[in-house]
Amino acid sequence: MDCIFCKIARGELGTLIYEDETVAAFNDANPQAPVHVLIVPKIHVANITELADKNLAAHIFTEVVPKIAQKTGVDKNGFRLVVNTGDEGGQTVNHLHVHLIGGRKMTWPPG
Ligand code: 5GP
Ligand code: ZN
Repeated sequence: MDCIFCKIARGELGTLIYEDETVAAFNDANPQAPVHVLIVPKIHVANITELADKNLAAHIFTEVVPKIAQKTGVDKNGFRLVVNTGDEGGQTVNHLHVHLIGGRKMTWPPG
């Protein structure tokens, strides 16, 4: 399949900042803050509504996110997780990704 995040997750393109058996993470090409990391499952999952694997979901949120927050130094002051889903959710790449954004004060509401 010609999916850009599948290629990045396989290590065929760009640089991974984190990798384990099931998950990969890399810096966003168009960062919206000093820290802007994309966390993706290695298997192709289109979006959060397609993520059937509870273990993988738990792994991402309870293990990978804290590790990357610590590694990028945003664990102390806080950060934001964003999972854009579908057209109205603003999803532009149809491979599930969790944005981990930090290093500056976030505002609310989002645009
Ligand atoms: P979405 O809008 O789908 O939630 O987020 C897609 C994100 O992927 C955007 O923030 C965009 O900058 C990033 N992105 C798109 N293509 C690439 C790429 O080829 N490499 C990297 N590192 N990021 C990308
Ligand atoms: Zn993919």
